Amino acid sequence: MQRTPPAGIRQPTFGWDRVAATAFSHWALLTLMGCALLSVAKAAPRPEEGKPLQIYFVDVEGGQATLFVTPEGKSLLVDTGWPDSNGRDADRIMAAAKLAGIKQLDFVLLTHYHIDHAGGLTQLAAQIPIEMMIDHGENREPKNAATEEVWEEYQKLLVKEKLNRIVAKAGETLPLEGVEARVISSDGALIEKPLGGAGGKSEGCDVAKQYRPDHTENARSLGVLLTFGKLRILDLGDLTSDKEVQLVCPVNKLGAVDIYIVSHHGSLTSNSPVFLNAIAPRVAIMDNGSAKGGVPSSWDAVKKSPRVEDFWQLHYSDEGGAAHNTEDSFIANPAGPDAGNYLKLSAWPDGNFELFNSRTKQAKHYSPANEMKSSGDF
Ligand SMILES: [Zn+2]
Repeated sequence: MQRTPPAGIRQPTFGWDRVAATAFSHWALLTLMGCALLSVAKAAPRPEEGKPLQIYFVDVEGGQATLFVTPEGKSLLVDTGWPDSNGRDADRIMAAAKLAGIKQLDFVLLTHYHIDHAGGLTQLAAQIPIEMMIDHGENREPKNAATEEVWEEYQKLLVKEKLNRIVAKAGETLPLEGVEARVISSDGALIEKPLGGAGGKSEGCDVAKQYRPDHTENARSLGVLLTFGKLRILDLGDLTSDKEVQLVCPVNKLGAVDIYIVSHHGSLTSNSPVFLNAIAPRVAIMDNGSAKGGVPSSWDAVKKSPRVEDFWQLHYSDEGGAAHNTEDSFIANPAGPDAGNYLKLSAWPDGNFELFNSRTKQAKHYSPANEMKSSGDF
């Protein structure tokens, strides 16, 4: 169902003008007023009341740049897109920051040092103050010239701007206020124990495909699980399938999530079916480009996962064609000239959330999930 975003404002529960027009006696009117005031005082807050957590999925053409802004106005940017193109990606991130009303980035998290994730950092830092950097530590792919250059630029920027830096370890919680940000993966290491509420046995591990270890920066991705009230949001950067299987087999260490930021732009080496079965997202959002990511195997794994309701894409995938793209209203940038449209998710702690497509100007609302059974059931 499509609908416009809720106003987030309590609707008047008492129509004074209508009351004045009725023929009630003075006494009846006072009684009615008393009851009405009582009912206002007792009324449960509307589900979407209050400021939401906002998440902007910035279109960086098959890289990543995802901006989280908490109800208190604290910000976390996960990755900075590509460099060059006259600062295209930095400009698009700045446009999202402006919409979110923030004047600085409290945290910038680099999932890894590939150019489509960390390449845009210097151009971005020239436009907005950054309070704290978060990363997985050393570049582990020094022989890849483009990646090494990104890493060296980052090192220079840390010194030049005197940036604070956290090297995050799997299992730690990041110091973001208002949202719990748990580090799931970092520099190739993964959480060792199941998260609270998780720990069931995953289905299909015995027959799951075996994946060879990935030796690129992708497998080093700094991945986080964000918990906001009842909602769980998973962003693992470009984490590869060999690591995904370790996270859910034989024991599901993550449990089910509500919102899944599709790993690696929906590329071939991520999004294993056994992993998607285990995390069972309700909604998936893929930061693919028209010719980057969005491959049929990733698309199928998401679509076949047991609880998925909708699959949103930043771009129509050329490779996916008619059979492996979601319907038009869930795509920010259809085939054709690129407009840099974004997707935006607004989430409330009670589990309500909605997704807004900046191209269609339509939002879709999602009600809280029924209480989930043990994660092992998925
Ligand atoms: Zn990437």
